[in-house]
Amino acid sequence: HKVVGVLALQGGVVEHLSHFKRAVESNPEQYGPFQLEFIEVKTSDQLDRCNALVIPGGESTAISLIAERTGLLPHLYEFVADESKVIWGTCAGLILLAKQVENAKRDQKILGGMDIKVIRNAFGRQLDSFESNLDFSSFIPNLKEFPTIFIRAPIVDQILNENPRLNENLTHPPVPMAKLTDGITVRSENPYSNSSPVEILHRLENGFIVAVKQGNKLGTSFHPELSENFLFHKWFLDTFVLAI
Ligand code: GLN
Repeated sequence: HKVVGVLALQGGVVEHLSHFKRAVESNPEQYGPFQLEFIEVKTSDQLDRCNALVIPGGESTAISLIAERTGLLPHLYEFVADESKVIWGTCAGLILLAKQVENAKRDQKILGGMDIKVIRNAFGRQLDSFESNLDFSSFIPNLKEFPTIFIRAPIVDQILNENPRLNENLTHPPVPMAKLTDGITVRSENPYSNSSPVEILHRLENGFIVAVKQGNKLGTSFHPELSENFLFHKWFLDTFVLAI
C-alpha cells in the first residue's frame, strides 16, 4: 500500500488527483483496489503518511508563503531530504524543488530537493501560455505526441554540480530579459545534499530544459494534469511510486 499526496496549499490540486484516479481506474487489473491511496496534504500529519508527494502548479511564492505560515515548511524540508520518498513538482512545484531560483520574489522559500537552478517565468510575454505536442518516447515508451501545456513556466537553467563541465553543453538561448528585470536570485535554506546525479529527460527544440529527474525526484516545467491524457501520471506511478 502506497500513499500519494498532493500538496494542497494552493494551485492545481484536484487536477492531479483526478488524473491519478483515472490512471488507476482504467487499469484495475494492474493496480488492484488497495495498492494506491491518494490524499490531499495540508498538514504535517498528512505529509507523514505519504510515500510520494506531488507539488502542483500554481504560484510558487504563494505556496511557500502558506507553507511558512501554516508551519508545514520545515516538514517539507525534511520530506525532500528523505531519499526513500518520491516527489514530483510541476511548474511552480519544479520551482519549489530547486536549490536555486532566478527571477524569484524576495522572501520566496524553496525546498532545495534537486541540484538545479531554475529560471522562473522564463518564456517571453507572447509565450506566457502555450501548448505543444512533445515527443516523450525517449523516457516514456510510445508516448510520441503528448499535448503539453506551459503556463508562465520555469525552465531548468543549470545543473548545480561539482563538475562544471556538465553545463558546457546545456546552453540555451537567453530568456527574454523583460521577464527577468524585477526578479532576484534565491537559494534554498535546506542543507540537504542529493546523492544521485541529475538526469535531463526533455529539452525543447531551442534547448530549454523542461523535464529533469534526480533519484526519486521528478520535475516538469509543464502541466500533464491539464491535458486530457493521463499517461504521464500513469508513468509516474509505475516508474517512481511503485518502484519504492
Ligand atoms: N510562474 C509561476 C510561479 O512562479 C508558476 C506558474 C505555474 O505553476 N503554472 O510559481
